[in-house]
Amino acid sequence: MGAQSRHRTPLAAQQRAISEADVGRAAAQKRGGCATTGAMSEFPGFEPRSVCQRCRRPESVCYCAYLTRIPTKTRVVLLQHPRERDMAIGTARMASLCLPNSELLVGFDWENSEALKRLLADQERPASLLYPSPEAVDLQAAPPKEPITLVVVDGTWANTKKMVRSNPVLANLPKLAFRPTRPSEYRIRREPKAQFVSTIEALTYVLGLLEGDPGRFDAMLRPFRQMVDNQLTCKAERCSPRSRYKSGPKQPRCHIPIELRTTSSNVLCVVGEANAWPCRDLEHRAQFPDELVQWVALRPFTGERFECFAAPRLPLSPSTPAHLNVDEATLHAGESHATLLDRWKHFVHDDDIVCSWGRYATTLFVQSGGYLPPLRFDLRLVAKDQVKRNIGTLEQYYASIATEPTQTFGTGRAGVRLGQLACITRDFRRVAGESLDDDLDTTRE
Ligand SMILES: [Zn+2]
Repeated sequence: MGAQSRHRTPLAAQQRAISEADVGRAAAQKRGGCATTGAMSEFPGFEPRSVCQRCRRPESVCYCAYLTRIPTKTRVVLLQHPRERDMAIGTARMASLCLPNSELLVGFDWENSEALKRLLADQERPASLLYPSPEAVDLQAAPPKEPITLVVVDGTWANTKKMVRSNPVLANLPKLAFRPTRPSEYRIRREPKAQFVSTIEALTYVLGLLEGDPGRFDAMLRPFRQMVDNQLTCKAERCSPRSRYKSGPKQPRCHIPIELRTTSSNVLCVVGEANAWPCRDLEHRAQFPDELVQWVALRPFTGERFECFAAPRLPLSPSTPAHLNVDEATLHAGESHATLLDRWKHFVHDDDIVCSWGRYATTLFVQSGGYLPPLRFDLRLVAKDQVKRNIGTLEQYYASIATEPTQTFGTGRAGVRLGQLACITRDFRRVAGESLDDDLDTTRE
């Protein structure tokens, strides 16, 4: 059981938030000690576009040549909402590439983040949060005299508001605010209020005030302007009559969530199995609630896998082994429930995008004390939304899209279902086709 995941070197439990400063996702996976070599070759249909490792933009629109490194006395800490990380036209990464004295962390739950705690503990540079609020100090009127640690939350207005509210470690920081003196040049994303600016524009302005040298940070806007121009040019080309003629009839609108269209490495498919008594057996059902006995997961774009059985603590329903297609001995030989949850904690990342079929297994998992990252998709609903018809069971929907024999990624029915889910997530990417850049058309929350 779980042979694939057994020899895994666990990620440090605390290291949930992944520092993105200079470490690519690939390196992060390497740290986890996962055997992903050759995993891509399992999926011949998936060919990622050639992407610049530094700015993470397709090489055709790489802005690295426009980056200038600007040293600062201010320590900048960028806390990026997980949904923002894969926003191709985000600006936090660009800002972190311009600022050697900065750190970019991705996550939502900062209460237990050792990395953040360490950054906030700098006595030489007390921390302040750049965030509009009634008690915020106006930076124009009273800029701090000594160097500070400037914490900046990156995401849509709704997402950052939620993030600050849910994390007292952020909400309790002293706050700084500023009024932009010119309108945003971020013409490719819609902001709910005219005075809102992008993260990099805010930093250009605020660092100018903090460091007492407003002009010095204008260089940060060069890559930003380049990205905006590129994006608008691409859009104009796509919308020109000629390209419309070339692309043939208008494609139906894509209903697949942006996260599933644009993200690869942190898509995480999960399947759980339960020891459950049959519905008609009311007497046993009343006595023995469903309990989790198997949990399998796969990152379909990297090949990393997880599998673990938890030995049933309640009497095993006679129908369970047959339903799960797992023999009784294997179930009884499972790990303890606590071991399963602990091993899982070392596998899962806060910014994983959890994909399941329906909500039964994920709900059972969470009720059993298991941790799941906040961003989750029920692929059944996504598929239904996309095809606009009744899609039936997982097996039926899979049969309607499968073009290759099912690969299994674990023991029994769960392993088969996991292979089907992986195939469905890859099929969503195929359906979305060229829409990798469509984030510029997406209305933000
Ligand atoms: Zn680049």
